[in-house]
Amino acid sequence: MFKADLCDLCGDCLVKCQWIEADKPQAVEWMKAMMAGQQTPVLHQCITCFACNEICPPKANPFDLIASLQEQYDVFNSKEMAKAQEEAYAFTKPLTKYPMAERLMSTCLFEKTHPHLVQGQLYELPRVTGKPYFCWMLFCHWGAESVQRKRAQELVNRLTLTGAKEIICFHDDCYAMLAKLAPKYGVEVPFNLVHFSEYVVGYLRQNRHLIKRLNIDVAYQRPCSSRHTPEKEHFVDEFFDLVGVRRVPRTYDRENAMCCAAIKLLLGNGDPVPDQEKNILDAKTSGAQAMVCLCPMCMDNMFATAQAHHMPFIFLGDIARMALGEISVPGLG
Ligand code: SF4
Ligand code: SF4
Repeated sequence: MFKADLCDLCGDCLVKCQWIEADKPQAVEWMKAMMAGQQTPVLHQCITCFACNEICPPKANPFDLIASLQEQYDVFNSKEMAKAQEEAYAFTKPLTKYPMAERLMSTCLFEKTHPHLVQGQLYELPRVTGKPYFCWMLFCHWGAESVQRKRAQELVNRLTLTGAKEIICFHDDCYAMLAKLAPKYGVEVPFNLVHFSEYVVGYLRQNRHLIKRLNIDVAYQRPCSSRHTPEKEHFVDEFFDLVGVRRVPRTYDRENAMCCAAIKLLLGNGDPVPDQEKNILDAKTSGAQAMVCLCPMCMDNMFATAQAHHMPFIFLGDIARMALGEISVPGLG
């Protein structure tokens, strides 16, 4: 929720936004207008990357204000279209089969859509997947934030049925939803949450004897949803240290990360390829031999552009599998 009382109209959220052109006076004018519930060009130019929530110094959550206005003014989706999408993603049958376990991994929809990313010893534990466990985070990218808010309780209820005391979130979005957004929505989350990167670090620490250090330089493709949970970023660094991978310093990383930009296509907001090229060339000129992503959607959306620039694009879990000797390391330039 936007915290108007914290906003001091510094304008940083819009001035530092990578997708909106605004100097400080313009940013302040637009912020004032949006705080008064008015439409501004921001609502149309924003590609819902969540960065401004991380950037805002007093943590006033400016994206939450933008998202609520995008929904109110049907900027990306009519209410009917959002409802049709909600119905398409909803699991409507009674949930009769689910594992019971103290500790399990939720793979969101990805075990169905990306089974090749959920292979090997890292995933040998009870798992839940598919529509009943979809985290609904896609909907704030569609200008329909209320849908994810409405569905948060149902997701938590289904995960609670398993009796798990600890849920490992394969997808960064699920972690953001359960660790940050659900509590913000007033939904109690009665289990401990473990981010995938934290889980992999724990697994590798317990299996140090199996690790073959990779000795490569990579650029990290930080996903948009990590804007909600920057405090767990250190696990990514610990992971890279464990497997002998150097995360090259570059322009588009950490707080200045550039999202995969594919949302532009979803929103009819222009061609994402030139932005992806900027990101990939930044990785290249910073000395990266490969780009490593945490989100399978970044993989889907940037893979072709990366390939066109001869930049291997690798899922973080697969880097772990390479270090464990399960899959081979691609030839890197
Ligand atoms: S969510 Fe991203 S694109 Fe939208 S205003 Fe914030 S920083 Fe800019
Ligand atoms: S929302 Fe945050 S970053 Fe934006 S103007 Fe207000 S205080 Fe500054």
